[in-house]
Amino acid sequence: MSGRRIATRVSQLNGEGALAVFARAKELERQGRSVIHLELGEPDFHPAAPVVDSLRNAVASGRDRYCATRGIPALRQEITRYLARTRKLSIQPEQVLVAPGCKMALSLAMMALIEPGDEVLYPDPGFPIYPSCTRGLGGKAVPFFLIEKNKFQPDLDEIASKITGKTTVIIFNSPNNPTGTVFDDRALEGIAALAIKHDLWVLTDEIYARILFNGDYKSISLLPGMAERTVIIDGFSKSFAMTGWRLGYAVAPVHVIDAMDLLVLNTFTCAAEFTQVAAIEALRDTTNAVDAMVNEYKLRRDLFVQSLAKIPGFRCYSPEGAFYAWVNIEDTGLPAEEVQESL
Ligand code: PLP
Repeated sequence: MSGRRIATRVSQLNGEGALAVFARAKELERQGRSVIHLELGEPDFHPAAPVVDSLRNAVASGRDRYCATRGIPALRQEITRYLARTRKLSIQPEQVLVAPGCKMALSLAMMALIEPGDEVLYPDPGFPIYPSCTRGLGGKAVPFFLIEKNKFQPDLDEIASKITGKTTVIIFNSPNNPTGTVFDDRALEGIAALAIKHDLWVLTDEIYARILFNGDYKSISLLPGMAERTVIIDGFSKSFAMTGWRLGYAVAPVHVIDAMDLLVLNTFTCAAEFTQVAAIEALRDTTNAVDAMVNEYKLRRDLFVQSLAKIPGFRCYSPEGAFYAWVNIEDTGLPAEEVQESL
């Protein structure tokens, strides 16, 4: 090996366990086995026909150039309408930044907000990129636990006890990947009160906000005093079954969006314009594709949870949102890796 080295921040990052299982499942498929995939958060739906038509037309009409770093104005405008309609949010296009994927919007927000040495609170179990990216930026990732006894709602006393003078950000994801928990009013109000008391940023990953089986979605940013300290992350991968299109966005105070915009300029320049044009059609959802997909997920959820309950050793709460089930296998007496392997 030469003396030339890889920057240490890379060694702070972790991968995603689901991707390793996915690779193993793919290998089994190559060997001719039929596999039901229970690992990656990938819808088996595809975007609605008008969205695909719009993409085709956009490419054909030359919408394939560099475009605005923070996203084309028409899409940012449509996102404000969509969030007003589906989440009662009142925001301006200046508060929106489009990125290639929710993950990229998340990374940009974290790059804009986290200094080396900062402590960042994140949910465990949760999306593995939150602690990974925090460490990559030189921050300290501090977990707060979502446990079965609390129906996977956060323990506000635990969060309060973990806030120090160095805590700057709290991240959460509701509905949560992988528990399917929707944070209740008490949790949202408690987190908001702590964020205000300790002057924290709140990073709310709302990528599953539309995949909700009961009631309306409540964003923490609607609570008094929260809009100015909240960054919302969302995107098209899950709600509109557009994982491979790589399109997501952030909603934040304008000075945060300006900082993220500079990061865009220094990295990927812009998200592909033709996908952004078609994303406007997705948000308008003229065929009610989202409701149809969520109804199907609900049927599958019920079938999965009811069937699982009949298998000795397995149990899980019925998820309130997203398309994950967090299964307790304790009573099988087997280690997780062994169950994973035999599945
Ligand atoms: N955030 C959460 C909680 C997720 O579960 C995922 C995907 O699994 C993402 C973000 C990534 O979204 P995207 O594919 O738009 O980058």
